[in-house]
Amino acid sequence: MFKTFLIKYGEIGIKGKNRHLFEDALVKQIRYALKDAEGEFFVYRNQGRIYVDCNSLYDYDEVVEKLQKVFGIVGICPVVTTEDKGLEALGTDVIDFLKNVYDIRDQSFKVMTRRARKDYPMESMEISAYLGERILQAFPDMKVDVHHPEIMLHVEIREKIYIYSKIIPGPGGMPVGTNGKAMLLLSGGIDSPVAGYMICKRGVKLDATYFHAPPYTSERAKEKVVDLARIVAQYAGPINLHVVNFTDIQLYIYDQCPHDELTIIMRRYMMKIAEHFARQDGDLALVTGESIGQVASQTMQSLAATNEVCTMPVFRPLIGFDKQEIVDVSEKIGTYETSILPYEDCCTIFVAKHPVTKPNLNVIKRSEQKLNEKIDELVRTAIETTETILVE
Ligand code: ATP
Ligand code: MG
Repeated sequence: MFKTFLIKYGEIGIKGKNRHLFEDALVKQIRYALKDAEGEFFVYRNQGRIYVDCNSLYDYDEVVEKLQKVFGIVGICPVVTTEDKGLEALGTDVIDFLKNVYDIRDQSFKVMTRRARKDYPMESMEISAYLGERILQAFPDMKVDVHHPEIMLHVEIREKIYIYSKIIPGPGGMPVGTNGKAMLLLSGGIDSPVAGYMICKRGVKLDATYFHAPPYTSERAKEKVVDLARIVAQYAGPINLHVVNFTDIQLYIYDQCPHDELTIIMRRYMMKIAEHFARQDGDLALVTGESIGQVASQTMQSLAATNEVCTMPVFRPLIGFDKQEIVDVSEKIGTYETSILPYEDCCTIFVAKHPVTKPNLNVIKRSEQKLNEKIDELVRTAIETTETILVE
């Protein structure tokens, strides 16, 4: 019975000219989210509201599920739209709405009218009172409760009249595209997809870099990362994923440097290469899934040592999260099942039995001097042979 959804979005921070940017980005993201949904959709702005009109083929649950992934949406209201045919006809429409949507028994209700068209001949309060009367006449067991009604019936009088009673929660946040772009270091693990999700929740669009080490990591491991990027793209929009062949760099570090420093040195090169692509793509920051103390390479000293190679800000949205909290988010956003598939990640193969947990930057830099002969060329080759996949 619903052919339209009214989209509610947060008002904070979108005053003045930002409002248009915010609304345009939101409309764009809604269209993107619905691009593969069954049916046809017309997404438009009207009088400070966003509406999604659906043709008769659409699947209600599918549309709601997709809209719940669009950052910036606070509420999704399935509405019935009617023409203004006078107050009496509106009363009948409201009664029909209740009959169609609810199994009416003795529920409590309240009518909230909003009159955006000031030429309507009655005040909002009067309209609500009239509609309340009509409802009580039609359903004598129902009762009015102005504080905690079971059914809150909203009537908005604009060029058309909109009737709704359900506000399905949206994901909040800001529309992707309103806060620049960042480069996510995306692995096949649990953490980095969650980190990407959290950054794009604040309106940041994502590019991604994955370090692949064939034949130590399989084609399946790469497919898994592409699959994860595709799930994140449901929230983030299309993602440019750079797949860097990291094998030769890893083998060279393995040959030349103390094994307990491997992870740190490798991670420093990952950050450098990711930063190269970030510059190329016009990103303003790097994003990782690190959290303090989770593993040896994420102690405060290790984080400082990896951070040192970057000039861009590095954002770590999971920095204060416990593993279980990260798992909870990954389950919520749908990446968990894919993340736990058992394909090797390039770090786990070259990992030392006893990695340094408190790396000293001077020591690390001295070890890296042993790479002088070939490393620049290997980095250049890795960059030149990188495959870029548009994931959507
Ligand atoms: P994740 O679950 O995200 O893999 P993790 O707990 O396994 O994280 P690490 O392997 O130490 O932690 O990696 C820390 C962060 O470094 C990751 O969250 C990710 O941002 C980045 N990273 C690690 N390995 C790769 C890789 N192969 N390609 C791209 N980024 C990576
Ligand atoms: Mg990992």
